Formats: sequence, C-alpha cells, structure tokens
Amino acid sequence: MKSIRYGLTAVLILAGTVCARAADTHQLRVGDVDLIVEMEAGIQAAADGGPWTDWLANTLQATSTVTGAFPRDGVRIKLRATSRSASAIAFGQVRRSHPPQLRFYVSPDASLDRLNGDWRGYHEFAHLLIPFPGNDDIWFTEGFASYYQYLLQSRAGVISERQAWQELLDGFMRGEADRSGRGWTLRNLSPNMWNERAQKRVYWTGAAFFLRVDVRLRIESGGRHSLDSALAVFHDCCMQARRRWDARQLVEALGQASIAEIWRQEYLRTINAIAEPRYNEALEALGIRRGRSSLLFDDRESMNALRRAIAGARANPPEFDRIVRGDVATQESAPAAP
Ligand SMILES: [Zn+2]
Repeated sequence: MKSIRYGLTAVLILAGTVCARAADTHQLRVGDVDLIVEMEAGIQAAADGGPWTDWLANTLQATSTVTGAFPRDGVRIKLRATSRSASAIAFGQVRRSHPPQLRFYVSPDASLDRLNGDWRGYHEFAHLLIPFPGNDDIWFTEGFASYYQYLLQSRAGVISERQAWQELLDGFMRGEADRSGRGWTLRNLSPNMWNERAQKRVYWTGAAFFLRVDVRLRIESGGRHSLDSALAVFHDCCMQARRRWDARQLVEALGQASIAEIWRQEYLRTINAIAEPRYNEALEALGIRRGRSSLLFDDRESMNALRRAIAGARANPPEFDRIVRGDVATQESAPAAP
C-alpha cells in the first residue's frame, strides 16, 4: 500500500499541540479549508497530531482533485476511539452543520498507511462535494459518495486503477445481492432504506446512476463534460447558497452545468425503476468485462483513455501546486474542547 503522493507535510504546520486529557484539538489549513480536528482521549497521536492530521489532509486533497478545489471553507472533524473494528476506520458520519462536521470512529492506533487505504475517509469527504438532498433522497448522496470513494483512492495513487474498477464492480454486486428491498422501486425504497435495512441496494443503485451519467457525459460530449466538470460549475454557481435541495433539483442544476438530457434520462430511469444497480452499458462503453478470476480490459485507446480519465492517477491540479509549494496560511492551536 502506497502512501498518497502529495507532499503533504508542507501543508501541515501545527503549533503548540494541546495535550489535555479530555480531547486534543488541532487546527490546520489545507489549501483554503480550515480543518479543526478534535481527538478523543485514547487516540494515539504524535505532538503534531499525526498520523491523523496527515491522513485528513491527504483525504481532503484527494477529494479536491474532483474539481481542483474543495467547496467548503471549513470542516470540523471529531475522532472517536473504538476497539471493535478490524478496519482503521469503523465508520463515519456527516453532520450538516455550519461548518459541516465529520465524525470518524477509528482504531486508536491506526497507521497512516492503513488510514489512507481505508475507503471510508474518502466516502465521508466526498459527501461534502454536494448539498444534502434530504432523507427521502438518501440514494443520491450515498450513491455519489460510493461512486467516488474508490476513484479518489486510485486518482491519488493509493490503489491501482484496476483495483478501483474491481472495488466498484464488487460494490455493484453487493447491491444486487442485497436481500433487502428487492422488488421495490428506488422512489419507494430510498425513504425507507433504514427501516428495510437496504443500504447496500440503495447505495449501489445510486453509485451505478453516477457511473452511467459520468460515462455518458464524457462519451457524448467527446470529453468536454464529465461528472467532475459538472460539479466544478455547480460549486461556482450554487454551492454556497443556503437553500434546500432534493435530488430532482440537483439533477436539474447539474444538468444545466453539463448536458441536461443525460441527467434527466438517467434520473427517471433510476428513480422509477426497481432499485438495483444498472451498470452493464457503462461497463461495455468502458471496455471492462468480468473474467473468471479478474477483470478484463479492452485495450483500445479510446476505452483506455475513458477509464484513465475516470480512475487514473493524476497530477495535482494547479491549486495543489500552490499548496504543496508551501504557500500555507496561518496556524494556531485551539484549546481543548470544553
Ligand atoms: Zn455515506
């Protein structure tokens, strides 16, 4: 497992770590984003907050590769220790406060490599790239974060492109195999996801929607549009407005930012149909087939290029060059939480 490639230590300058018993709080600035990281007692951290602060900066930067910037001024992070998980991150949650808050329940002695290698961090940060569409449309936000969670890792070089496609496909298959919510339309299942315990079905039905939209945007525009580019336009026009959104409105806005017809067609095809991941056409366009034990890739250049455009490792966008060169803003330590 590789560490993320960016020169991240340049991003982090921490002063005067607070070593209180109750919780350590670290404040850092990554690009234009203020991260306030509160660590519960029991979490093993160095004086500068590592490896937690490095991991969070890595993940934030990986998430920023989608559009070249992160669309929030600040994020509060709360880290809670749990010993009941084999993974570095047991689970994460988003709170839609101002600024938004991410909570992670973590193995208190996790290493940086294990944290970088855990998809859950990328998933939670990806949630913050779009507004929350409300509980009835939970499929939209969970599908979005699930679509990006492995792509962010492969784009950052943490996993290979091949592995990202494999993970995505495995996710779709978990969604198909989910015994819960079978036969429901997504429109009916999404608001009842928790009652029906149909998270896998709902999440991966949504992720397949985003894969189809992304692939169609790229192919039908000859590479001019993509999910990434639609988000970049959306962040510019609409992200800061404090309004409520639902999935249909987000589909319209993202459609206006790219190709409205594709978004509408895929939305209607998804919301009114039986909830199950539909991805075969997209895989065919991408030149990905399931072999007996692993994926087979069509090596025609157009398909290669399409796969690389979605999941390939990439150079840092210009904004990151500035960050990595060390043009960092102020640092200060925050007091321990009351
Ligand atoms: Zn989620």
